[in-house]
Amino acid sequence: MKLVLFDIDGTILWSDGAGRRAMQRALTNAFGTSGNASYRYDGKTDMQIVRDLMRMEGIADALIDARMNALLDEYVEALHEELRSRETHVERFNGVVELIEALEARPDRRVGLLTGNIEVGAGAKLRAVGLDPARFIVNAFGSDHEVRGELPAIAQRRAREELGLHVEGDAIVIIGDTPADIDCGRSIGARAIAVATGRYSVEELAEHSPFAVFPNLADTDAVMRAIDAA
Ligand SMILES: [Mg+2]
Repeated sequence: MKLVLFDIDGTILWSDGAGRRAMQRALTNAFGTSGNASYRYDGKTDMQIVRDLMRMEGIADALIDARMNALLDEYVEALHEELRSRETHVERFNGVVELIEALEARPDRRVGLLTGNIEVGAGAKLRAVGLDPARFIVNAFGSDHEVRGELPAIAQRRAREELGLHVEGDAIVIIGDTPADIDCGRSIGARAIAVATGRYSVEELAEHSPFAVFPNLADTDAVMRAIDAA
């Protein structure tokens, strides 16, 4: 049995900046600034983005914590608006649905999410590209923990508690588009498959020694073979 956990942004889909714009609106409402414009959101959890950006503005953790939940509620509201906007062109990457279908057809594979998105935001983004969030049956979200490195063990625990599956760390395969995706599962021995559909190139991702790296997920057979071998 292997657990195959997908990142969302840059891996399953491209939200055309909808997530970033929604976060900037929520940050501005809560703190009067959206922070350093050159800060990179990719590979980060939603709560980490809020904390990193507002710490850089000199805001104390106690105040960040006090406003976090209300800020995330506003973020979700803004995200729905941004995803609905006619100016937003959300894209689902080639091969994603075929890969999920191929995994679902295998009795020894389970599909899930490992994403920095809070759960409600993850659902909104997936629905925006026509994917039913219910297809992902073992998940760890940015709402479960602020630190991405904690998420693989959370997914592993959920597999046990919710599906009765005992999955060893090295039977967990994480598919993602950033070095953070590659590195987050190391502590439990998870395997990483990197995909260069986000902002990182194949070469940049390869420097972080994933089990495999692909330019995209379009070659279903090749990705399935990599998952088998991982
Ligand atoms: Mg990503």
